[in-house]
Amino acid sequence: MAATGRSRRTKVIRVDAGRPDPSVIREAAHSLACGGLVVFPTETVYGLGADATDSRAVRAVFEAKGRPPDNPLIVHIWSPEDIAGLVTEVPPAAAGLMSRFWPGPLSLVLRRAARVAEEVSRGLDTVAVRMPAHPVALELIRLAGVPVAAPSANVSGRPSPTRAADALADLDGLVDYVLDAGPCPVGVESTVLDLTGPVPVVLRPGGVTVEELREVLGNVQVLEGPATRTRPPGGPGVAVPDAEAAARSPGLRHRHYAPRARLVLVLPDTRRPDGPERTAAVVARVVAGERASGRTVGVACARETADLLGRAGDWRSEPLPVVAWGARNEPGEIAARLFAVLRDLDRQGVDVIIAEGSSSEGLGRAVNDRLGRAAAEVIEAGDDGGPPAETPDTILLICSGNTCRSPMAAAILNDHLRRAGLDRAYRAESAGVFVPAAGPASPEAVQVMAERGLDLGNHVARQVTAELLDRTRLILTMTGAHKEAVLALAPGVADRVFTLKGYAGDGAGSGQDVGSIASRAAGDISDPIGLGLEVYREAADEIEKAVARVVERLTNLADLRELIGEPEGPGEEKQP
Ligand code: AMP
Ligand code: MG
Repeated sequence: MAATGRSRRTKVIRVDAGRPDPSVIREAAHSLACGGLVVFPTETVYGLGADATDSRAVRAVFEAKGRPPDNPLIVHIWSPEDIAGLVTEVPPAAAGLMSRFWPGPLSLVLRRAARVAEEVSRGLDTVAVRMPAHPVALELIRLAGVPVAAPSANVSGRPSPTRAADALADLDGLVDYVLDAGPCPVGVESTVLDLTGPVPVVLRPGGVTVEELREVLGNVQVLEGPATRTRPPGGPGVAVPDAEAAARSPGLRHRHYAPRARLVLVLPDTRRPDGPERTAAVVARVVAGERASGRTVGVACARETADLLGRAGDWRSEPLPVVAWGARNEPGEIAARLFAVLRDLDRQGVDVIIAEGSSSEGLGRAVNDRLGRAAAEVIEAGDDGGPPAETPDTILLICSGNTCRSPMAAAILNDHLRRAGLDRAYRAESAGVFVPAAGPASPEAVQVMAERGLDLGNHVARQVTAELLDRTRLILTMTGAHKEAVLALAPGVADRVFTLKGYAGDGAGSGQDVGSIASRAAGDISDPIGLGLEVYREAADEIEKAVARVVERLTNLADLRELIGEPEGPGEEKQP
């Protein structure tokens, strides 16, 4: 709970969300400019605002929320030009993002100028700035005439408020005004993007999606949260925030967004055709387990899962509170209701909330991030030990431009998988770490494959993405450098990325050793591009040798699986 007593007389003012009347807001804006605390709606969540240039007011925000002192605040501005006094420099990338996404749910971390109270950034020499899209937020900031530092308007650690009543439940008596303009449309907080390093890094996924940022910036790294990282299959794991993430964005270190009830996150099976049924079955099993231990349970899940749950168990003796918070493939719907549903289930007094996560695309990434940080336990429905997948697992081959080595390797691997009878379990695909344009395979690669009866005529080069890596079971790179590029893009796949020769068991250059450049290069398949047909043939031979050993390994793995009856991914057993 907050450190100070509830000594303020909180005044609640209703405001029209679309066309706020300035005369209704003026009083609160004046209070804000004079050091007061004002709760206001934004398109993401309700914020708790204070003058960002007033150290005392900013300290009062931390006290009211009981916010850990090392967690910096985001500064909200009324127009893009107002960023000038807050940061020392606006790099070109920032300017491009501002024109595309502002006003909107994107906070940019830049170098802080002296005008921003030091308390805002808690010792960091950076500051996060954004221009919100909500008319009431903009009018309030305009009338106050000051930049507004505002975290979410909840007591620290609790779910963010997306309705004025939720903010009031936490902060009544601790703030001067609450502007009530109804529910927040986006429902999850802004995306926090750090632009102070060589590569833009998403510190917190949010209302602007990683896919949208990549359209503008190309390369964007994402610090993966607890629920978006891959865990060993086969059971529940406890979510622990990642150390690097915590160092870059101190707020990530803390438990967040948590309802009073214990939250169990079930990540849906999005890979198999019968994924929805499997997911519902896992939810039903967790419900039964919690109830058997004498706890009361509420479920928040996709509409489809809610429908299937009726069939997955018999709930007649003890009715099960189930809230469908959106369609399975509409993470935006889920995001908009996420925090409100958690708070509503809390109000019903259940001991445990079983929450179904989203697919990890688009806004689903932010949904899973919030649920992962709120969760005491995470269960992956896709790893429930059921019968093997009906759709094959993807093995992704990676090279530079995806025109020579990796498409050849994928074609050869698919051929060997088919011959080994493993083509129903695995399918090879390819991508490149730097693909300037979607084009065909090189003519030499097409010809050398044709000589082996393999067709590369329809190949189209594509850039590898974090999403692609996320849903791939095994990633094999042509060189150690490609492996490093993959890890830079998706650190979470470390347990399933290998160099091709390394996975084939070719001592040198498995990518596991940090040996000399020479020893690493020995484990690489070198680039034949521009070196003529003969060099392509040699590269293809080299790839084929390694591929044959990879398939041998996968065959042994399949035998082992059958023997012990356990589904185990190809990346999860020990290196030879
Ligand atoms: P909140 O406003 O409560 O949703 O939290 C603000 C988020 O922005 C937290 O995750 C902070 O860690 C992050 N943040 C704010 N300022 C900075 C900064 N200067 N550097 C890195 N992260 C920041
Ligand atoms: Mg917050």
